[in-house]
Amino acid sequence: MNTASGFIKAIESGSKHLIIKRFTFRYPEQKLKFVGDGYQFDPKRGVGIAGYRGRHILFHDKCTGCSLCSIACEGIAEAIGMVKVDENWKQNKKSIMPQIDYGKCVFCGLCVDACPFYALFMTDDYELSSFTKEHLIYTPQQLEVKPKYQGDVEIIIDDRGATHG
Ligand code: SF4
Ligand code: SF4
Repeated sequence: MNTASGFIKAIESGSKHLIIKRFTFRYPEQKLKFVGDGYQFDPKRGVGIAGYRGRHILFHDKCTGCSLCSIACEGIAEAIGMVKVDENWKQNKKSIMPQIDYGKCVFCGLCVDACPFYALFMTDDYELSSFTKEHLIYTPQQLEVKPKYQGDVEIIIDDRGATHG
């Protein structure tokens, strides 16, 4: 590509963005609104259900303490540790469940794919920042809480890219 055609290409590319609405909004007053509940995996069908990969949700009444989520994470981020819980569930004889360190998690979703019991999914919650590393570690009790998450800014994805309404 010579200098002139490179210049024209740059102008052409830049001018396309002049007509695209800016992808910014007034966070935290405004928040993103997601479609669906977050990433899930259906082990019976062996298919993932598309969704945002934010903070996990753990269903204690389904978790067997099998550690498969933790094993799946071992080669990725070592973000999951199995910890004792003060609960008695008939399906979880050892009373152990995962806790997740969001200082290490890369939100790949492999732990969700590895769970055969519909006990671990992801949610739309992306507000996980903290002043300390310790507060990035979510216990099974914290992971059990369904996030109270309400967004008001919808993302629109079309052939011009992603914008918001
Ligand atoms: S989503 Fe996070 S916790 Fe789960 S396997 Fe990936 S890195 Fe590990
Ligand atoms: S969340 Fe799923 S994979 Fe992880 S220990 Fe519980 S049942 Fe096993």
